[in-house]
Amino acid sequence: MQIIDNLAEMLALCQKWQRDEESLVLVPTMGYYHSGHTSLFDRAKPLARHLVASLFVNPMQFAPGEDFEAYPRDLDRDAKLAKEHGVEILFTPKASELYLADHATWIEVPSLAQYLCGASRPTHFRGVCTVVFKFFHLLKPDFAVFGEKDWQQQIIIKRMVKDLGLPVEIVTVPTAREADGLAMSSRNAFLTKKEREQASQLYKGLQSAALLASHGECLANVLKNTVRAYWEKFLPLGKVDYLEIVHPEKLNPVESLPSKEASLMACAVYLGKARLIDNILLIPNKAKS
Ligand code: AMP
Repeated sequence: MQIIDNLAEMLALCQKWQRDEESLVLVPTMGYYHSGHTSLFDRAKPLARHLVASLFVNPMQFAPGEDFEAYPRDLDRDAKLAKEHGVEILFTPKASELYLADHATWIEVPSLAQYLCGASRPTHFRGVCTVVFKFFHLLKPDFAVFGEKDWQQQIIIKRMVKDLGLPVEIVTVPTAREADGLAMSSRNAFLTKKEREQASQLYKGLQSAALLASHGECLANVLKNTVRAYWEKFLPLGKVDYLEIVHPEKLNPVESLPSKEASLMACAVYLGKARLIDNILLIPNKAKS
């Protein structure tokens, strides 16, 4: 595996692959790899001739006061894991080369970014879309792989690709979890021992709503209150940023679950220094038959 940190070299290599009609799959990441990331590499590997993972902690998707500086980083360990999972090129561009000092152009999908994480982090998704667009433009991948843990992100990227007619197919991968249900995340590294013990209750709370929904409960407020009550009891260190039930593609809140299709319950919870996000599909009984 090769590490490429400059744009000209990455561009030249991708142009050569295009001339030779060799396909490319890209997995965009911010590093500090765990089994969620490696599951994306494993999914990506058979899709194309070349597998590139970008590793870039994108300053444009962090607002002042968020955890950009503190975001965990370990290039040596990441390179080892990427290599073990078939990554051919680890692309580690520098922010100073990717963005001009007076950078002024943004890709935005406000109709989808207004909800969930975008409501609490208003400039986050324009940072994500802009960097992902830059990578798509530079590398011209045939496929790009994203995780369903960041549900809103993959929905927004798919919309961007559709609206701009980008010739890339977006592939998504289910959330990889620890044995106790906690969604794997680089930010789990911020958790103290006590916080980590309680963190498993985050997903268990969402599962309690999914169970109720599958037994016929369709009122969003009842389902959300059930989860909040569960967290108050079992996740007392958590501070809920948001807990919403939304249409899984349009992302607008729903008050009552439609009987024949799934809805998405999504949340962000602060636990100490970590802001953890997770989601679960609520599938009513009738949707299964
Ligand atoms: P990140 O490095 O956190 O920006 O994540 C890079 C990619 O990995 C994104 O597409 C994430 O959705 C995905 N990802 C992160 N955590 C997980 C997980 N636990 N399971 C599956 N995919 C994940």
